[in-house]
Amino acid sequence: MRPGLRTERHATMQDATRYSVLFEPVRIGPVMARNRFYQVPHCSGLGHLRPRAEAAMRAMKAEGGWAVVSNQETEIHPTSDLSPYTEGRLWDERDIPALQLMTEAVHDKGALAAVELVHNGPFALNHLSRVPVLAPSEMSVADVFPRHARAMDKSDIRDLRRWHRDAALRARDAGFDIVYVYAGHGLSITQQFMQPHLNTRSDEYGGSLENRVRLTRELLEDTREAVGDTCAVAFRFAVDEMLGKDGMQAAEEGRAVVEMLANLPDLWDVNVSDWSNDSITTRFQPEEGHQNDYIDFVKQVTSKPVVGVGRLTSPDMMASMVRKGIVDFIGAARPSIADPFLPRKIEEGRIDDIRECIGCNICVSSDSIAIPIRCTQNPTMGEEWRRGWHPEIIPPKGSETEALVIGAGPAGLECALSLARRGYEVTLAEASDAVGGRVKKEAALPGLAAWARVADHRAYRLSQITNARLFLQSTLQAEEVLELGIPNVFVATGAWWITTGIGRSTRRTPPRIAADAQVLTPDDIMAGRLPQSGPVMIYDDDQGYLAGVLAEKIAAAGLATCFVTPASIVSPFTSLTLEQPRVQRRLIELGVDIRCNRTLGAATAGAAVLNCVFSGQETRVEAACIVMVTERMRRTELYDALLGKLTGTLQLIGDAASPGLIADAVWSGHNAARNFERPAEETYADQYIRELVSLSPWEKE
Ligand code: ADP
Ligand code: SF4
Repeated sequence: MRPGLRTERHATMQDATRYSVLFEPVRIGPVMARNRFYQVPHCSGLGHLRPRAEAAMRAMKAEGGWAVVSNQETEIHPTSDLSPYTEGRLWDERDIPALQLMTEAVHDKGALAAVELVHNGPFALNHLSRVPVLAPSEMSVADVFPRHARAMDKSDIRDLRRWHRDAALRARDAGFDIVYVYAGHGLSITQQFMQPHLNTRSDEYGGSLENRVRLTRELLEDTREAVGDTCAVAFRFAVDEMLGKDGMQAAEEGRAVVEMLANLPDLWDVNVSDWSNDSITTRFQPEEGHQNDYIDFVKQVTSKPVVGVGRLTSPDMMASMVRKGIVDFIGAARPSIADPFLPRKIEEGRIDDIRECIGCNICVSSDSIAIPIRCTQNPTMGEEWRRGWHPEIIPPKGSETEALVIGAGPAGLECALSLARRGYEVTLAEASDAVGGRVKKEAALPGLAAWARVADHRAYRLSQITNARLFLQSTLQAEEVLELGIPNVFVATGAWWITTGIGRSTRRTPPRIAADAQVLTPDDIMAGRLPQSGPVMIYDDDQGYLAGVLAEKIAAAGLATCFVTPASIVSPFTSLTLEQPRVQRRLIELGVDIRCNRTLGAATAGAAVLNCVFSGQETRVEAACIVMVTERMRRTELYDALLGKLTGTLQLIGDAASPGLIADAVWSGHNAARNFERPAEETYADQYIRELVSLSPWEKE
C-alpha cells in the first residue's frame, strides 16, 4: 500500500469575536433566547406516535446550543387530522404529557421550546377521524382522494378560533415558551384564507386582503389573550409564494400583510412558500441564504424580532445577515438536522467540524412516508432515543484491537471515522486515487456538487485524527488483507450498475438485448464515458433520482435524449424529496423526449422496442445507445474470499451489504462502528427500543 494523502485543514480557527454577534441574547416577548440560533419548526416523522424519540431529538438540538427549539406542525383538532403522517397533536389534554416530555427535555438543556399550532384546512384529509374536511370555500381536496372540503360557515370559524385558543392553553400547560400561529408552506388554514384562489368568500373573511387576513389577526389576538404573559406568540408567515403574479409576492401583498400585523406577534418567522420552495434542494437552488431577497423588508416594517432561513450553514453569512439587519435570529431546520451542534461548534471556534447540510431532502422523504427522520450527513438523527446515539459522543473502544476498512465511499469513510473516534487504530484502504466512492461521482453530476460535503467532511475529520491512516490507490485482494494481519475487517466495496436492463418491472420478462446493442450504465457516464452520438435512451427502472440527473447531463451535452420509464412520471422517488415537478420540467426544457409507462422489451443496434405497461402494446424508438439505470449488484468478491479466514470480525457494510441511498450507506458505516465489540445485549444492532402502544384502560378517542 502507498502512504495515504492527508486532506489539508481548509480553514483556520476563527477569531472568537468574529461571530460574537450570533451569541447575543434576544428577547422574544416575555421570554429570553440565550443566543440567535433558532431551530424553526420541522417535521420529524416522530411526533405524536413517537414522543420519547421526538423529545430526545429536540433535546439534542438544545444541547447543541440552539436557543429556541421548535417542534413541528401540531394539529389542534380532529378536523385537522394529518394521519398517516405523524406530526404533533394537541387535540385535547391527553396529548399534553407527550409534548411535556419535549419541553422538559429542551428546558433541561437551557433552550426555549416552541410549538407550531396548525389547522391544515383542506390539506388535512381526516383519514383517521373521518370528520368533514374544512376549507375557506367549497373545493376538492389537494390529493388523489375523491373528497371535497366544505366551506366554513361562521360557526365553523368560531369553532376554529376556540380550538386554536384551547390548543394554545394546552401548549402553555405543556410548558412551551413560544406558541405559533402558522401561515406557511401552503399547509395551513390561515394562509389558505389569504389565498384568493382558495378563498372565494363574499363575507368579511373574503375579498379584500384585510378580510382575507382577518382570521389570522383573530387567531393572533386569541392566542395572545389565551397565553397572556406566560408565552411569546410567534407568527410563521410565507411572504412570497414564488409564483410571480399568480401568487402572493413579497413586494406586494406579502409586505402588506406584514404591515397590517406588524407588532401583533412577538416574533416573525418568515419564509417563502410552498414547502418545495422553502426547503428547496441544492440541486435546484445551490445558493445559501436564497430567501434573503424575499424577507429582508420585514425588519423594516416591524419592531419585533425576525427569524429567517435559507439552508444557512456558514457562520460568516449568518453574522452578516444579523449585522445587515436582515434577521435577528438565524433560523434553521435542515442545518440543525445535519448538525445539531452547529451553534456550539461556532461558539467554540470549531467551524471546520460543522457537518454541513447537503440539501438532498432525504430528511423530508422520511416525513413523506411517515417514518422516523433520517439524514444523509447525520446518521444519528432520529436515533437519539431508540438507539441512544449522540452526534458528538461515541463510546470508547472495547479493546486494543485494530480495524481495517476497505473502500472509502460514504460507508467506509463513516465507519473508519467512527471507529477512529472510538479510539481504535484504523486503516482505511481505497482502490481509487480519491475518497468518496459513489458520492464523489454523483457530486460531479449536474446540480449535485454540494453532495461532495459527505466525503469532504469525513475526509477532513479523519485527517485530524492520529489513529487513522488512509491509503489511496490500494486495491486490496484477500491475500493482501490476510498479510496485513489486522484482525477486524469492514468491507465497504460498494456496488455496480448492471447492463441487462432487468429491474423491478421486467423480472418476469427480461429485455432481450442483442449482442450488437450499445449499452452503457451510470458507472460509465459518471466515469466520463459519454455516448459518441445520439439518440441516447435512458431506461430508468430504478425510479430514484439518478436517471433524471444523467438525462440532464446527456441532454445538456447536446445529444438527442429519450427518457423511458415504466413509472408514470419521471423519477417518482423525487416526489418524496419535493423535487419531482422540477425534475420533469427541467428535462422537458432540455428537449428530452419523455416516455412514461413503458418497459424495455428489446434492444438491437440503433433501436429499442418498448412495451406499454398496461396493454403490452409495442413501440419502436431509435436509440444509438441505451443507458441502463435499473439495478445494482453488490461487490462482495473480497468479502466472500475472506469469509472464515479472519481471527476477528468480518463485516459487509454500505452498498456492498444492501445498495440504497447515500444516507443508508453512511448509517450502515456508523452502525457497524458503533456496535463493534459491544456486548450483544447493548448493541441494538438489529433491534432498538420501541415506543409501544399503551394497553392502559380504554379511553374514548
Ligand atoms: P458505499 O456507498 O457503500 O460507501 P461506494 O461504492 O460509494 O460504496 O464506495 C465503495 C468504494 O470501495 C469505492 O471508492 C471503491 O473504489 C472502493 N473499493 C472497491 N473494491 C475495493 C478493494 N478491493 N480495495 C479497496 N477499495 C475498494
Ligand atoms: Fe440536509 Fe440532506 Fe440531512 Fe436533510 S437529509 S438535513 S437535506 S443533509
